[in-house]
Amino acid sequence: MQSNDPVAEKDRTGLCASCQHARCLSHPRGGDSYWLCTRSEADSRFPKYPRLPVLVCDGYETGKSGVD
Ligand code: SF4
Repeated sequence: MQSNDPVAEKDRTGLCASCQHARCLSHPRGGDSYWLCTRSEADSRFPKYPRLPVLVCDGYETGKSGVD
């Protein structure tokens, strides 16, 4: 189940929660949301759906938050 608590969501997600390359998507059948890394479209080093939490990432760029 998706948390409405932004702090809990950041803990679950890690860096993607505040990365400009992340998109938070809702699961079509409910349950946890999941995160898509748009860097994966042009750079195969990045997984399309990162395993969470992402704690270290060379592609991280702040500037957008999906949960703030
Ligand atoms: S670049 Fe890294 S931190 Fe940013 S969305 Fe992709 S996997 Fe997450």
